Amino acid sequence: MEIPVDKPILVTSALPYVNGECHIGHLRTYVPADLYVRMLRKMCYNVRFICGSDTHGTPIVLSAEAQGITPKAVVKRYHEHFRQVFKALNVDFDYYGQTDSESNHRRTEEIVKKLIENGYVYKKITKQAYCNTCGRFLPDRYVEGKCPYCGAIARGDECDQSCGKHLEPGEIIEPKCKICGNDAVFKDQEQFFFLLSAFAEFLASYLDTLGGTLNARNYAREWVKKELRDWCITRNLDWGVKFPGRDDLVVYVWVDAPIGYISFTEELLKGNEDISWDRYWKDDAAVIVHFIGTDIIYHHCIFWPAMLKGAGYSLPDAVVASGMVKINGETFSKSRGNVVWTTEFLKRFHPDTLRYYIISQSSHTKELDFSWNSFAMRVNNELVGVLGNLVHRVLTFAHKNFAMVPEGDIEEEIFVAISKRRDEAIRAVEEYEFKKFVDAVMSLADFGNRAFHRQEPWHLIKKGEEGKARCGTVIKDVLQLLKAVCILLEPVMPEKMQEMWHLIGMESDVHSVKLDELLVPIESGQALVKPKKLFRRIEL
Ligand SMILES: [Zn+2]
Ligand SMILES: [Zn+2]
Repeated sequence: MEIPVDKPILVTSALPYVNGECHIGHLRTYVPADLYVRMLRKMCYNVRFICGSDTHGTPIVLSAEAQGITPKAVVKRYHEHFRQVFKALNVDFDYYGQTDSESNHRRTEEIVKKLIENGYVYKKITKQAYCNTCGRFLPDRYVEGKCPYCGAIARGDECDQSCGKHLEPGEIIEPKCKICGNDAVFKDQEQFFFLLSAFAEFLASYLDTLGGTLNARNYAREWVKKELRDWCITRNLDWGVKFPGRDDLVVYVWVDAPIGYISFTEELLKGNEDISWDRYWKDDAAVIVHFIGTDIIYHHCIFWPAMLKGAGYSLPDAVVASGMVKINGETFSKSRGNVVWTTEFLKRFHPDTLRYYIISQSSHTKELDFSWNSFAMRVNNELVGVLGNLVHRVLTFAHKNFAMVPEGDIEEEIFVAISKRRDEAIRAVEEYEFKKFVDAVMSLADFGNRAFHRQEPWHLIKKGEEGKARCGTVIKDVLQLLKAVCILLEPVMPEKMQEMWHLIGMESDVHSVKLDELLVPIESGQALVKPKKLFRRIEL
């Protein structure tokens, strides 16, 4: 999607559900979103980047009950954990909130009241799973049974192991209580429904204008073409945002979670005199881009825009959906131990190598199959073999023979090569093709390697004053290429590129350097330090 230059941009990343630790599957959304934001900033756009912890719903309540602590305590622990992980990985949100905040309660209540006022919410008596032994209703994951669509074992809210369908309360067959294991019964209970069926026509035309990745639009279109069923938006729980006027019901977690995007914007811009949150969410004065995983397309392309439309809010402009992560060809599973924890990973490897791997290993919308082998190959062949090697050879030679950036004019073909890769990189980011982005920049490093070898500066340096001057321009050309690689790879590897930036004699902060700097000739006379190796080989 080409972005209008005159509008501010809000980029959001899917909210992590905070009942467990971060695994590398989570990062498939956060790392590319962070790259996207960093690159837009280099292109001089006005961008804000927000996220926060998703704190409500039954899994957190169940895990609190199992540990004998409160849901608040579970949330606090993992909220802090995710903040630490994002910091360690340099996923640099302008604001990281959580959906149990006072302002999210308030905003959710306001939106639900607006939907009621506009006639999009109605009451209905439904059959809800109830456990006679425990004496309570069993919302969502409190109940397990058979999927009414495919017959597989399913959770109360989703056929998670088989057909993937969202299940409405009361749909599950042969329900069993998750707490005591006994058979549950169905009991009449009043619930509130969102009139999703009224939005079918709106959604069909909205999806035609929605930007982002094709997988998100196509998947959502399939749903709209079939029958859109109204959506039960209340649950019998204590933990959550109270449904207006009802002490016994909270809203379903998928109502208040995306509303977090709005309340986090409010919290971020509180006291900001230049722009207020409603410019983003009420006036259509901004571009809203959601980064999500393919497992929550339905929620972001159907529920969410219908809710926003029904309550009179601005609509998202793009939904970017990343493919899921597998490990050694198998589905991620915490219960089966097929998982790679982020903190364990970061104890052994530099965060930038993980960022690089996630972005370069497969196209953003495709599945990423993680293996230690493919991780080591990428680091060893590309970061150590191509980039690290080039930087080390060129800088060792330059430091030994010049000790500073040499005199001389940069060849026109160098600027042509840089401009070409810059344009490819911009196009790739606009198309959410982050692998292509990395490939374009790495081909510039390749070009540098070839230029260095072809002109054999180690022979030139021995050929008197004239040879040394010629050698100096060759080195300066390659340093210019390194400077460009460094600027363009900063969104992928922010820490390593800051190190490299200093190695080529630059003193500024590479994070705030814009793309115009790509074609500014590197200054002669800047001192070069004795280089150290940027990346370490990984032994299998
Ligand atoms: Zn199913
Ligand atoms: Zn029970």
